[in-house]
Amino acid sequence: MNKHKVAIVGSGPAGLAAAIYTSRAEIETTVYAGEEPGGQLTKTTEIENYPGVVGKTGPELMVTMTQQATKFGTNIVYETIRDLNKLKSEYDAVILAMGASPRLLGVGEDKYWGKGFSTCAVCDAAFYKGKNVYVVGGGDSAIEDATALTKFANHVTMLVRGEQMRASVAMQKRLDSYKDQITVMWKTNLVAIKGERVEKLVLDVDGVEQRVMAEGLFFAIGHIPATGFLKNSKVELDIEGYILTQAAKSLNGDGMAEWPTMTNIPGVFAAGDCVDHRYRQAGTAVGMGIQAALDAERWLASQFVR
Ligand code: NAP
Repeated sequence: MNKHKVAIVGSGPAGLAAAIYTSRAEIETTVYAGEEPGGQLTKTTEIENYPGVVGKTGPELMVTMTQQATKFGTNIVYETIRDLNKLKSEYDAVILAMGASPRLLGVGEDKYWGKGFSTCAVCDAAFYKGKNVYVVGGGDSAIEDATALTKFANHVTMLVRGEQMRASVAMQKRLDSYKDQITVMWKTNLVAIKGERVEKLVLDVDGVEQRVMAEGLFFAIGHIPATGFLKNSKVELDIEGYILTQAAKSLNGDGMAEWPTMTNIPGVFAAGDCVDHRYRQAGTAVGMGIQAALDAERWLASQFVR
């Protein structure tokens, strides 16, 4: 009996979780690892909130997931896919799991990953006990991050580039209860970061340079899903470029989805941060990857008798 063939685009937690399931289900599985093999977790240090994993770093966790997938026969190809139609013609099903990247500012922050700079307060807030930290952004995520940080940090300062916040009114109201712990600096842009770790920030406050001491820096200025190459395909994306699965559409009131993780193209599934605006956790991406693998397996069985 010939095996079904699945291609998985992306090698972060969603892609590798899907690969572990499809390979173990005796589906011939190829993971195209993309430009950032292992995904965003490769940029983190210690992982404290991934259930069942203690004392491992992000890169170590991704190496383990990769080994687990290859143990069951996953073929990992270190290539970046640029043409979905070609890929689809070569495989029986495709799972898209390219992830999303946090938006960055390009003020030298790359040097400070794991050295006082983070784009995930949910992941890293606990490392900032008693510290004075800064959050760049004025959206819902920035407020959520700032309030999450107050549980640990001594003080949190939000740097908002405009005169008002984009965050919902309800979220902005939340700040009223944190008057002593969160300060908002308006019309403020981050210009540079100084120190071996994050030690000092150079700010532009309404046109005037100001230097402040800082022990932590978080960006919450949005994410960019890695779906650029799909713009010339027929895969339906939302206005921000995230992939619309049947589940995402049914959440908008279309009723129950038959194949929750399938896109509008039969046989093309999607999982992880390239679908998910909201949770963006390794654990949630793994869950979605598994859902996509199970949907793909069942869909293949329903379509092709080999
Ligand atoms: P967002 O709503 O796109 O907000 C991005 C923020 O970053 C804005 O304040 C924006 O400022 C700022 N920004 C963008 N580029 C910048 C730059 N170059 N320099 C300085 N500031 C910059 O992103 P988000 O907050 O991540 O939210 C994403 C989605 O998830 C939203 O739909 C949000 O409602 C949702 N969400 C909801 C919740 C919740 O309800 N609990 C929590 C988190 C996220 P400007 O406004 O000046 O452009």
